[in-house]
Amino acid sequence: MIVALDGPSGSGKSSVARAVARRCGLTYLDTGAMYRSVALVCLERGVDPADEAAVAEAARAIDIEFGDAADGSQTVRANGADVTAAIRTPEVERAVSRVSAVPEVREVMVALQRRAGAHGDVVAEGRDIGTVVFPAADVKVFLTASPEARARRRAVQRTGRNLAEDAGAVADAEEERRVLADLVRRDAYDSTREASPLRPADDACRIDSSDLTFEEVVDKIVALSPELAVRAAEERS
Ligand code: C5P
Repeated sequence: MIVALDGPSGSGKSSVARAVARRCGLTYLDTGAMYRSVALVCLERGVDPADEAAVAEAARAIDIEFGDAADGSQTVRANGADVTAAIRTPEVERAVSRVSAVPEVREVMVALQRRAGAHGDVVAEGRDIGTVVFPAADVKVFLTASPEARARRRAVQRTGRNLAEDAGAVADAEEERRVLADLVRRDAYDSTREASPLRPADDACRIDSSDLTFEEVVDKIVALSPELAVRAAEERS
């Protein structure tokens, strides 16, 4: 079974996708981490994100591996190096939208993502999962939240805390404003690019998480499909 979870930055997709995967015994696939890894490799090699041919070359050659950290979170390796933390920096965030808008980069990443989902039982999270990568996914969700709610989540994440686990966590107001400006810029870029723009699949269930707790969002998604609910019950027993 394949669950496609799309939405803009900071909608809570990653935490929610991980939790749905854990609760239902599915594998979590973070496609954003893949585009981030390509962006990081380009930055490290001094490749200009505007140089499409060089960016595509880096994407064709990249080897990305996901692993499990001791605390249950996910690790990412790119070309053999642990890039788990390095792909979350503001530098990578500034470059990743340009890199992910290159059609050849998308072709290569989509092929890798389909291979990862070939045996099913995946919760894939990204921007084009329900529209392009897995258009026949069993469950499609488009998760949104107000820009302010999304900026707050991301700013808190940068302090090393997580609103999904710690609802009272706060971030610096100035940092929140900076994150908001970056989110709005990245959303505009991701939504208006020609190659696979961010948009909900026609048959996706839209969930606005602004006023929902993390658990409420996860419950809503599991309740969308009898198969997910059965798997969750099986995992519990
Ligand atoms: O989800 P995350 O914020 O990690 O994604 C980083 C960037 O990767 C997004 O801003 C977008 O440019 C790109 N992306 C994409 N398609 C996906 C996943 C991520 O274009 N399926």
